[in-house]
Amino acid sequence: MLRKIITISLVLVFTATMAQNNTGYWQQHVDYEMEIDFDAGSYQYDGEQKLVYSNNSPDTLSRVFYHMYFNAFQPNSEMDIRSRTIKDPDGRVKDRISKLSEDEIGFMRPKSLKQDGKPLNYELVGTVLEVELDQPILPGESTTFMMEFKGQVPVQIRRSGRNNAEGVELSMTQWYPKMAEYDFEGWHADPYIGREFHGVWGDFDVKITIDKDFILGGTGYIQNPNEVGYGYEDEGVKVKRRGKKLTWHFVAPNVHDFTWAADKEYIHDQITGTDGTTLHFLYKDNEDIKENWKKLQSKTSDLLDYFNEHIGDYPYDQYSVIQGGDGGMEYAMCTLITGERKFGSLVGVTAHEMAHAWFQHILATDEAQHEWMDEGFTSYISGQAMNEIMDQNEENPTAGSYRGYVSLANSGYEQPQTTHADRYQYNQAYGISAYSKGAVFLAQLGYLIGEENLSKTLNRYFDDWKFKHPTPNDFIRVAEKVSGAELSWYLNDWTRTTNTIDYSVKDVSTESQNTIITLERIGLTPMPLEVKVSYEGGTSETYYIPLRIMRWEKPEAGKVVEDWAWAYPTYELNIPTKRFSIEKIEIDPSGLMADVNRENNVKVMNE
Ligand SMILES: [Zn+2]
Repeated sequence: MLRKIITISLVLVFTATMAQNNTGYWQQHVDYEMEIDFDAGSYQYDGEQKLVYSNNSPDTLSRVFYHMYFNAFQPNSEMDIRSRTIKDPDGRVKDRISKLSEDEIGFMRPKSLKQDGKPLNYELVGTVLEVELDQPILPGESTTFMMEFKGQVPVQIRRSGRNNAEGVELSMTQWYPKMAEYDFEGWHADPYIGREFHGVWGDFDVKITIDKDFILGGTGYIQNPNEVGYGYEDEGVKVKRRGKKLTWHFVAPNVHDFTWAADKEYIHDQITGTDGTTLHFLYKDNEDIKENWKKLQSKTSDLLDYFNEHIGDYPYDQYSVIQGGDGGMEYAMCTLITGERKFGSLVGVTAHEMAHAWFQHILATDEAQHEWMDEGFTSYISGQAMNEIMDQNEENPTAGSYRGYVSLANSGYEQPQTTHADRYQYNQAYGISAYSKGAVFLAQLGYLIGEENLSKTLNRYFDDWKFKHPTPNDFIRVAEKVSGAELSWYLNDWTRTTNTIDYSVKDVSTESQNTIITLERIGLTPMPLEVKVSYEGGTSETYYIPLRIMRWEKPEAGKVVEDWAWAYPTYELNIPTKRFSIEKIEIDPSGLMADVNRENNVKVMNE
């Protein structure tokens, strides 16, 4: 435990000094102190929030923005209208927001707001609070905001809310006035329309006063376990609970969000992972799900081991898997997932959400702009992890993502991955682009630079960018430094365009004793090629055609021949063998190159 705390403080010091280095990287910092008084009868709560905001940017700030997410759950909100106008709405949302009554909607309203003691002018515009500052915040300076606010928890529609489909009473996500992020691109005060979050790194101290019958879980370390009886459920320790309510005190260092959930029927189990991390499990006392939730616990520990090894050491002291929400969603130090699932699905969703602890919570990419970096990387690594811990023995655990991507690419509905997460024409196109094409980005990077370089890239990406906001360029630069290959073209073609990969075996001819295989590039995206030539008698050879703009050759990829410069539509591969002894020619037998038409990749001879 101590080891981890030291690691975190070292990282903070390192980040602060790095920020002045040649990378020019800087990030803002927030310290939240919140006291919440919750009324379980009305699902309303009063809050006091002290927020110390440190401006580490080189800019003078004359205004700030807060996210007030719960206002999305009101008839005619942008989220409601979007859900009622998109062609393929999320089944959980559809027109449900439009039907909420006054006491069922969500809201988040400021009652007062001061900066260093002076009242401020502000305007609540949907889910965003626009605030004019009394005094501008100069570079390197800090200021203190004090806000009193009132919130109402909406009926569970999407992610957060009260009384979800499985009867979990409170899923409290995106539930507090949350300072928008300001970074090298300026303010990220996006309205909450459907998805994705981006937050400021900081420290949270949160006191929640609520009816004493509730059991809470979420982000942060409980500070008063004896008072609330947390973690003693199985030891028969009787907690003296005077009065009607109890105050739960949480502290969360170095996170960019704070989530909690509460229910009166939660069972709370905990185990210790091999690295010392405490794993908490909170789920309803329901005989139908109990066995699965018990079996889940050692699998979660296996997942923690897998991600520690393949990405980097989990830096916090705890992680919680909590029944709540409406599917699975990742939050700082925890996930809220629905719990009435078959065992494989319960582990699978836990694997996905837990991987997000790395790809989004520690490596905090801006999900709204680079959704493929968090959803795609998470899908890739959780697929690999499931393959190992559930003994699935898949040759390519990302195969399903390849199929999804290829069908989208051939559908005509694909938009570039640079599209804002809210701006896709179809939810399905967003989903495949973020999850499947994002996962293929990594698996295919393995094809480009080799599995060993890919795995080193993930480890170094974590070391270089944990507790920051890495961008796509930051990631590809790590891959370049690790491998030595030039890769900016890959980032560009794959993520910023809808160009596709399509190579074919065009023609086979004879030239004296040799066979000439003519290969054709049909798609616009270039790739290095691995061509397997199988001979009569069962032998085979793999030829590796490097891609000129990579200025690099993959080690142990096969017989290296002359490179292929992209502009040339065809390439002649010269095989020093007579044509009749060749049985079959195949481009990319590994299937790791996302060719949108594999039919023309293979030529079977003598047919
Ligand atoms: Zn995800």
